[in-house]
Amino acid sequence: MSRPLMSCREFSEFLDRYVEGELGDVERLEFERHLAACPACVAYLESYRRTTRLARALGASDALPGVPDELVAAVLASRRNA
Ligand SMILES: [Zn+2]
Repeated sequence: MSRPLMSCREFSEFLDRYVEGELGDVERLEFERHLAACPACVAYLESYRRTTRLARALGASDALPGVPDELVAAVLASRRNA
């Protein structure tokens, strides 16, 4: 029996823990299942990783920016148009 995919909102809530490697096996599978089905969140993850790398490169790992609201809005908008 397969569970429904997590929503894009849930995905965004798991995102930082996924990038930090802090998700458990079940959560990571759910996360990756959403990624496989949602190109908008693939793009979202890539831009999040770029931002994270940039912040690290600048030595600002203690002050990572949050996920910008515009990015969330863009992901949700692209879902509606899909
Ligand atoms: Zn998504």
